[in-house]
Amino acid sequence: MAEVDAKNFLEYCGPQPGVKYPIQVLYCGECGLPVEYCENYPNYEKCKAWLEKNVPDEFEKLKVDKEEDVSGGDSKEEGEEKKKRQTRGGKAIMKTKKKIEPQGVKLWTQTRGKKKKVTIVVGLASYEIDLKEASKFFAGKFSCGSSISAEDEIVIQGDVKDDLFDILPEKWKIIDEDDIEDCGEKK
Ligand SMILES: [Zn+2]
Repeated sequence: MAEVDAKNFLEYCGPQPGVKYPIQVLYCGECGLPVEYCENYPNYEKCKAWLEKNVPDEFEKLKVDKEEDVSGGDSKEEGEEKKKRQTRGGKAIMKTKKKIEPQGVKLWTQTRGKKKKVTIVVGLASYEIDLKEASKFFAGKFSCGSSISAEDEIVIQGDVKDDLFDILPEKWKIIDEDDIEDCGEKK
């Protein structure tokens, strides 16, 4: 229902049959918007209180609309599906095109087992660096084990944190040494 309203709101379709003109728009005393838009207002609870007190008829109408939305389980899902499809056609494209902002690289060391240290590298993927390649590169560079341990996390066997401050910007020009953060020892 809200979708239809939004559409009419954006595209003026001329006089509608069955509507008396001029249209009497009821404005909410709380948020100043036409009452249909109250639910978009952050203080909707206050709006509801105002409506209930000042225009109980309208309040009942809005309440009934709402309840229909909720109880019509299937149709609500359909509505949400529709919304998804709409965003897919519109904003979603912009989203996927938008590049991920590099988030910086974070380095930790962590002691595992008795005295075994590992170095954890987080954030390479945000530079669109292939983690598999990076992990292989580290393994070769440090002659040690290296593996992808999470979505954007590589664990290198041994404490190589200090070396990484030089090696990362050297290997990947996109990484600035200042983007690398030493996060210390992970518990
Ligand atoms: Zn309001």
